[in-house]
Amino acid sequence: MIHQYQLGGYNIVLDVCSGSVHVVDEAAYDMIAMFEDKEKEIVLQEMKEKYAGHEDVTPQDLEECYEQIAALKDSGKLFAPDHFEPMAGRLKEKTAGVVKALCLHIAHTCNLNCSYCFASQGKYHGDRAVMSFEVGKQALDFLVANSGSRKNLEVDFFGGEPLMNFDVVRELVAYARSIEKEHNKKFRFTLTTNGLLIDDDVIEFANQEMSNVVLSLDGRKEIHDRFRVDYAGIGSFEQIVPKFQKLVAARGGKNYYMRGTFTHANPDFLEDIKQMLALGFTELSMEPVVCAPGDPSELTEEDLPVVLSQYEKLAELMLEREKEGKPFTFYHYMIDLGHGPCIYKRIAGIEDETECSDMREELTDRFGDIPRPVENLLRISLLRKQAHDLFLSDVQGKNEVLTFTFAGHADVRAERIPALLQDFGGRMAFYAKGAYLQHRYKKCGVVEKDGEMLLTLTESILERMRQYLL
Ligand code: SF4
Repeated sequence: MIHQYQLGGYNIVLDVCSGSVHVVDEAAYDMIAMFEDKEKEIVLQEMKEKYAGHEDVTPQDLEECYEQIAALKDSGKLFAPDHFEPMAGRLKEKTAGVVKALCLHIAHTCNLNCSYCFASQGKYHGDRAVMSFEVGKQALDFLVANSGSRKNLEVDFFGGEPLMNFDVVRELVAYARSIEKEHNKKFRFTLTTNGLLIDDDVIEFANQEMSNVVLSLDGRKEIHDRFRVDYAGIGSFEQIVPKFQKLVAARGGKNYYMRGTFTHANPDFLEDIKQMLALGFTELSMEPVVCAPGDPSELTEEDLPVVLSQYEKLAELMLEREKEGKPFTFYHYMIDLGHGPCIYKRIAGIEDETECSDMREELTDRFGDIPRPVENLLRISLLRKQAHDLFLSDVQGKNEVLTFTFAGHADVRAERIPALLQDFGGRMAFYAKGAYLQHRYKKCGVVEKDGEMLLTLTESILERMRQYLL
């Protein structure tokens, strides 16, 4: 699966399953878009017609471009298959019925009266109420009882305004901590607040017990105060900003999120992000309003071009600030291609034994025993990294021969190849023309056993190659 987009004068192609990002010229960008759906002749014909008037794009250039795209596909960097898909269901099955997180509506009431509130001022169209310790305790017990083998459990104190029931929040956290050891669980708490009730006590408690705090601020004062008002209709900006600043400073500027909402009043929400930055906040998030159709805050079709342009300008601002040494985080742009949220990508991005064992631990925590195919994926990721360190461009097992091909720029100790071959006692051969090593092996004919044997053999050969050639 690929995703193509143009930004800042670049033609960008993201290959989703391999995590590769390609920056290409316009002709390649166009050709990639049709590459998988049409025959080679048709692709070339259409491209030649399209670029007929372009002196700098000759028919020969287009032929070469096609071959380069095909080579990228062959090397698994473009249109890479989704190896994880068939296993994803098996992992999901293992977690069916397992509860790993709770959002506790600790206060069905609020001390603000935001007109765009999706929760009807915290009441969710019901009566105002706060959760008792007993109900919260039962919720935590339920979470523990239904969390299976999952060790890390997440609880978000949410509302309305959770600090209107702060004593119960404290009691529940104390209770959760008291049962962690006995059940071999670890609670991770988040507090989402509008900020009005933050004081030194809350700051100290939050910094001790909350892994994350989510702070609601809409950015510019006039934007924030338009919707986020108290019951007297007075905007909350002036009251909450100093409190947020104090809390964030006490947390060392980390483990928090400033969360803003953009509406029809501010589709140009980048200005609000700039305001948050000016106030000293750097962990930011901005979400579109959720409201009933026809609500005055509702985003309209006409807002869409402005909203889309804001995301692009935001990316540019992030780059600028990064260069200036003043980076900031935007929640929806937290995409780490190597270690992104998708398990497959994270497995594919494993760089060493430590990361591999961390991943194993996480998978076991989330899903219990790791299925064999996923375990093999972990091993293959490590092999890929080792092969890369050895400047190998390809490793292939075919017809009972394992072939290790060196890349053109391989910077290995070639003078030690004879010693390596000797170590393998005749089972390994080196072919200078083509720069590859070959090792013979015997299949037993049982697919699973052969696969396991091949993995183990490749691991041991790469280890020996590392000892001799690096
Ligand atoms: S602070 Fe949150 S819960 Fe309270 S009224 Fe505003 S949006 Fe609703």
